[in-house]
Amino acid sequence: MSELGKLLGELETAADTDTGDAPPVIDRAIDNQLVQVRLGIAASLFVSLRCKDAAAAAHGLRVALSCSAWASKMGFSREQRDTIEVAALLHDIGVIGVPDRILTKPGALDSDEADTVDRSRQMSLEILRASCVEPVILDIVGNVPAWYDGSRKGFSLRGDQLPLGARIIAVVEAFDSLTTDRVYRSAVSYERAMSELFRCAGTQFDPKLVEQFSQFGPADLPGVRMEAAREWLAALDPESVNSYWKFNASRTSAASRNPAEFFRARLLDNMNDAVIFVDAGLQIIMWNRGAERLTGISGQSVAQRRWSASLLDLRDEKNRTVDREECPVTCVMASGTQSLRRLSVRGRGGKDVRVDMHTIPVVGDDGKILGATVLLHDASQEITLEQRCQSLYEKATKDPMTEVANRAEFDRVHETFVATHLQQQLPCSLVICDLDRFKLVNDTYGHQAGDDVIKSLASLLKGSCRSGDMVARYGGEEFVMLYADCDNLAATRRADEVREALSQIEQSRMEDRCITASFGVTEIQPGDSSETMLRRADRALLMAKATGRNRVVQLGSGSCVQGSSSSAASLRARKTGPKSVVQQCLVTPVPMRIAVEKLRGFVADHQARIVGVEGNVVRMDIRQIRRTRRRNDRPVIFRLELRFEEELIQGEGPLPGPLESEHSAGQCASRTKIHVSVTPKKSRNRRHSDILGKARDVLTSFCSYLVASEEAPRQDDDEQEDHQVFMPSLETMLKPPPKNSPKENVETQNRED
Ligand code: GH3
Ligand code: MG
Ligand code: MG
Repeated sequence: MSELGKLLGELETAADTDTGDAPPVIDRAIDNQLVQVRLGIAASLFVSLRCKDAAAAAHGLRVALSCSAWASKMGFSREQRDTIEVAALLHDIGVIGVPDRILTKPGALDSDEADTVDRSRQMSLEILRASCVEPVILDIVGNVPAWYDGSRKGFSLRGDQLPLGARIIAVVEAFDSLTTDRVYRSAVSYERAMSELFRCAGTQFDPKLVEQFSQFGPADLPGVRMEAAREWLAALDPESVNSYWKFNASRTSAASRNPAEFFRARLLDNMNDAVIFVDAGLQIIMWNRGAERLTGISGQSVAQRRWSASLLDLRDEKNRTVDREECPVTCVMASGTQSLRRLSVRGRGGKDVRVDMHTIPVVGDDGKILGATVLLHDASQEITLEQRCQSLYEKATKDPMTEVANRAEFDRVHETFVATHLQQQLPCSLVICDLDRFKLVNDTYGHQAGDDVIKSLASLLKGSCRSGDMVARYGGEEFVMLYADCDNLAATRRADEVREALSQIEQSRMEDRCITASFGVTEIQPGDSSETMLRRADRALLMAKATGRNRVVQLGSGSCVQGSSSSAASLRARKTGPKSVVQQCLVTPVPMRIAVEKLRGFVADHQARIVGVEGNVVRMDIRQIRRTRRRNDRPVIFRLELRFEEELIQGEGPLPGPLESEHSAGQCASRTKIHVSVTPKKSRNRRHSDILGKARDVLTSFCSYLVASEEAPRQDDDEQEDHQVFMPSLETMLKPPPKNSPKENVETQNRED
């Protein structure tokens, strides 16, 4: 210590000779003594500042003495005052890094110069970190320039989160600066200075402290400073104050000793997200500035505290408190696997903040869990964006009145629905329903009553849906349903349950009368596209309307037509010259009359164009069955040539197919043979395999509609007595039936005829 005393003595001499033109605070000798008793070995830092800028040093001493007196008046403990006094003395130490030309510039500073002065505040902290081991002092110095409302860039804390010492110094140092002559500005009166403090109370300064400072009596500051000085000289021991100062290796040379570590530390401090490290005993060992910003809890206050979910008031998606067992940190420590959860934490000012909490275990080389890192990302903006996307998505896909899917969404889903069910060879059904005589409801009871009816039907349909199903409002009072993994029979039954339920509901706006609806049902069948399926269901609905309404009509052969899928698989494709790509001889176990009825459904649903009927031969043009909505996929038009032959079969057992019950062993039955050829009308620039695939699709769909399969080779072909029978000309049979006299008049039908 004798060396130290000598050093201080030398510094005192140096300071004596170089105090610039700033007047001493009390008296040169006393000023030096005060600095020595207050700072001990750190007095050298203060003297360095005085060598550089005597005015800044005098300002520091005045502020320190004023704060000391004020803190004493406020009843602060000796320890609290100690830290405030030291921080006040050295809060401007960073000025030693500011060029003289800026410090002595009489006019206003330009933006670069102002930045340099601003940076000197940060430099104060850096200089003190190198030797100060009292974190409270560092915390105060680091936050003196912060604004009370948190608006100053580069500072994360605000309001009462700022250390009290920093808020006190901010008020006192502003008052001192304003009331002292500076090279760039003359001193203002105490009254002007106080009114300036009041003007900035609540923004730059703590308003309560400004109020208290005005009552403390700033006009008498020189007097109170003298009292504080007396107390320092009487009570302070330069030896004991040295406990704040120690060579701080980790601080001073982190950057030079271990640059990577230094960069990592800087990165963590500058990250926007909160980063927290906890060790194996759940002690918090790191709490970056992002964590301070997010939670309003300073790193110092949690250092070495145990982590617990209640520290951040963690709550789950349903706003339930996350307890110890559920806490991601404890779970990750126990399981060793990382977790990502969206939770909410109590943020600054008690405000809830939704965060994505990513917790990662830290595993040592020996496989032991050493702790965990916790990353908290403020998800508020993403959530707003997600919510907006969700609401846009709902607007684009939902019908606002009934809250079921809209037509565009149905079209999109239906296409994939058909493709998936065909591929997986699973049944699925489509139901279309339309309210009966609905115009009358509107006309009689008004649109509001009509809307209520539409909503009640929608809610019944929603109720009939299972997981994987879909209900959509197709338009007006028409709805469509997709029933997944559901065949004709089940779909018809389910539709009928809805029909029955609707017919029982007394509609309050319709004087408690009931309303009915008609339903068209169809199951997917081989060769279908979403269009053919929809047209078939629509035809079924038209039939239900035409046959009296309030009923369910089902059309189509379904996906389990015997032989049809196998025949589709075995379709023989031949390269038969430049024209026909597929030829096939099919047989359907029904008489010609019924086969022609089925053909009608095929023509209608594919919107095929009959181009000629000659004898038993029908020719039609048909567009390829469209499976996807790919823009560049130009449709191919095929010419379908069909030659019909009716055969009488005697003494055979039941014929295959859905009509087998109509036939019994030993009786005469007729069936229809159909020779089919499919030829592309224009096939230039198309690959043969492409054309072939599309031609097969046409033929597969034809088989499904006609319930036809490839003609099975007979063992005793020659002995069979096949009879060609007389039949009315195809031309007559293909004429459309007269309007309003449909063939179906039963509520549910399971065939095309
Ligand atoms: P049908 O039994 O043949 O179906 O007879 P309908 O009177 O129901 O005939 P149609 O299906 O063509 O009538 C549709 C009517 O639905 C016409 C339109 O005024 C009414 N409509 C369509 N959308 C709405 C709606 O959102 N609210 C109300 N109140 N009426 C609607
Ligand atoms: Mg209607
Ligand atoms: Mg309608």
